[in-house]
Amino acid sequence: MEDYKGKVVIVTGGATGIGRGAALAFGAEGAKVVVVTGRNTAGGEATAQAIRDAGGEAIFVQCDVSDEEQVKAMVEKTLSVYGRLDCAFNNAGIGPDGVRVPFSALTETSVEVWDRTMAVNARGVFLCLKYEIPAMLKTGGGAIVNTASVGGLRMAPSFGAYGPSKAAVIAVTQTAAVEYARQGIRVNAVCPGPTQGTELMKNSAATGGAAAGDDDGPPIPLGKFGQVEDITNAVLWLCSDKAGHITGHALSVDGGMADIG
Ligand code: NAD
Repeated sequence: MEDYKGKVVIVTGGATGIGRGAALAFGAEGAKVVVVTGRNTAGGEATAQAIRDAGGEAIFVQCDVSDEEQVKAMVEKTLSVYGRLDCAFNNAGIGPDGVRVPFSALTETSVEVWDRTMAVNARGVFLCLKYEIPAMLKTGGGAIVNTASVGGLRMAPSFGAYGPSKAAVIAVTQTAAVEYARQGIRVNAVCPGPTQGTELMKNSAATGGAAAGDDDGPPIPLGKFGQVEDITNAVLWLCSDKAGHITGHALSVDGGMADIG
């Protein structure tokens, strides 16, 4: 299975959770992976090392996706090391987990939390697109997937700025898709439902948030939480030529929550 042999892929938020899973999967499929994360440098290094230990190619680049200069430098580093950019999974994000970001209704959401959530989730994806797309155009195109959320399709109580920030991810995905379709760039979003095995969900479960579910189990039509692999399977497919006629789409991977929940 080497569908991505020779392709260069950026994965943001690659230290843990969905991003780490995607980076490992791209690496196993033969991609040269640029693992990106902000503060968790040990986690980012560990993901890149795990790819190399498995016989793949990867580097780690520290980059806060909300900072324009750092995003610009991260894409430049990708081009200087690997010479091209074929795919990107813009996945770094923060959400209410009761630890790093509080659960709060809109009227109780502080301006600081609103701005921080928007800066990482919405501005972060915008900045990645702003610098990745010109890099991809140098070699004739590419494919991008941005991580939105079921929370960007259906607003949930107590999620404060998170839902609006993820709705913005879907909007900027579609903006980029319509602007660059004729230049060989496809841009899609993946919308996970509650997905286990991530720091976000571990914190959320520990603080009694949405991930804890209730006595009836998770409020998901399929009756089970998502797993990291459920999301990464969709991401690798959307980035591949098998999804070559799909762009501007927000794909729910949520056990039916957005559509029939
Ligand atoms: P996670 O907390 O394990 O991973 C988030 C990653 O983003 C980490 O590697 C972290 O270091 C990185 N990150 C955070 N801020 C950053 C910044 N400013 N710059 C660079 N990197 C930064 O959680 P996860 O669930 O794997 O989250 C991945 C994405 O999935 C997020 O966008 C999240 O909103 C989204 N999501 C998760 C779920 C879920 O249930 N787990 C559901 C819907 C959407």
